[in-house]
Amino acid sequence: MRFDVVTAVPECFAGWLDSSIIQRARAAGKIEIALHALRNFAPDKHRMIDDYPYGGGRGMVLKPEPIFRAVEYCLTQARPGLKPEIILLTPQGQVFTQSVAQELATCPHLIFICGRYEGVDERVREHLVTWELSIGDYVLIGGEIPAMVVMEAVARLVPGVVGTYASTEDESFSNGLLEYPHYTRPAEFRGWKVPDILLSGHHERVRLWRHLQRLKRTLERRPELLTQRRLTREERRLLVRIL
Ligand code: SAM
Repeated sequence: MRFDVVTAVPECFAGWLDSSIIQRARAAGKIEIALHALRNFAPDKHRMIDDYPYGGGRGMVLKPEPIFRAVEYCLTQARPGLKPEIILLTPQGQVFTQSVAQELATCPHLIFICGRYEGVDERVREHLVTWELSIGDYVLIGGEIPAMVVMEAVARLVPGVVGTYASTEDESFSNGLLEYPHYTRPAEFRGWKVPDILLSGHHERVRLWRHLQRLKRTLERRPELLTQRRLTREERRLLVRIL
């Protein structure tokens, strides 16, 4: 999986790139992340990447030419026959969810364009990008944190990045439910005990308890997820116990 990131501030990515699972996945060659400083693609000698908006108004807008040039350079790095997705991070885009992450994980090459200031020249959106993504209904300073959010969620789905692939299977949203609660040692902390069932060593009962907890949590916190889901027979039986 290759990620190219076009950004005005590549230094934003420093700590994230070099820590924990992302760093290990890069070192193992499971994912490749290349940062492209927008300034390096500015054609003029002052390396201008932004300018005033036509029509007046406050703020600056990222110019189209450096972005087109940077993305066109990234496309030269694509494997023959492979069409990368070109993703613009914008609060006006489709809201990013786990199912979008799953869909993106099937494309081995993603190119991200991080906006700044008032955003990017509209012609980038109209003629270059294939996907517009928002990480939620709020406005951040730049697209760098959203790009990290999307890359991290997608990278975790690449086989071999997070321990065994199985460890992402029961996670929240992975099949339309929230995850069950976790406990670790000690078995009793300040008088609060771990549920007996988890200490029983009875795998089938633990599995059923966890399934019940997933349903219960989803019903309490995100009931709309349950209505969007086709329930299995076991889930219908378990739900009767909760309702
Ligand atoms: N003027 C823009 C608007 O009102 O839609 C907001 C621009 S914002 C200050 C600057 C950049 O941050 C955006 O171009 C985008 O790349 C990024 N950004 C901010 N919030 C975002 C969000 N919720 N999701 C994705 N990207 C976001």
